[in-house]
Amino acid sequence: MRIPNIIGLARRLIWLAIFVFALLVLFAWLRPGREDMPWTPLSLSDPIGMSTGRKVARLTGDRDGCIALLETSGLEFDALEPRGSDQCRVEDAIRLDGTQDLLAMTPRSVAPSCPVMIGMLIWQNQVVQAQAQEIFGQRVARIETFGSFSCRRMYGRSEGAWSEHARANAIDIGAFVLADGTRISVLGDWPGEGDKAMFLREVRDGACDLFSTVLSPEYNAAHADHFHFDMADRGEMGWRACR
Ligand SMILES: [Zn+2]
Repeated sequence: MRIPNIIGLARRLIWLAIFVFALLVLFAWLRPGREDMPWTPLSLSDPIGMSTGRKVARLTGDRDGCIALLETSGLEFDALEPRGSDQCRVEDAIRLDGTQDLLAMTPRSVAPSCPVMIGMLIWQNQVVQAQAQEIFGQRVARIETFGSFSCRRMYGRSEGAWSEHARANAIDIGAFVLADGTRISVLGDWPGEGDKAMFLREVRDGACDLFSTVLSPEYNAAHADHFHFDMADRGEMGWRACR
């Protein structure tokens, strides 16, 4: 009578071992890092993971937390005083201080929200410079922007949803200038097929892993000459746009 019980127990143990082994294989295959886990704190040195973009967007409304994170970057910046009202209230604009290698954007006066600035920093370090090295064998010296703050509704219409630009929570990128002075513009080089067009597509795709909304010339004619990036906080399950 005892022997069948032992065999039954052994069978169960074998199945349990197989189940645990399968779990370990799955975990090793997925190899989730802290950057993929929504509950781990954001670190600027983490590689871009599945949760990075939402973590940055979540800093919207957390002025102190965002500025504290930006301080870990080594960037020299001014955290501007909150200004404006209603839909055009800007709580956390950041302006870079002088010229610096870590993140060179023009015009120097551009002052996006802190989450957008963090997105720009991660994007430049992990996407833009990596692609510039791979495709052109040199660094990007400057990112030309069309600005950040604009108190208006989407597309400047008189009614409808307010643009993220109204809170400086967006930035428009027009061109990149390489260390040797070569200029790559969205307007001039997106339609082509060469290295410049490939670079623009790679940095656009890389931005999609970070920013809540990424719009490029593929989206519509209004974006023929720039990329629009914003850090709209739409929650953990919120929609993201990459077009
Ligand atoms: Zn825009």
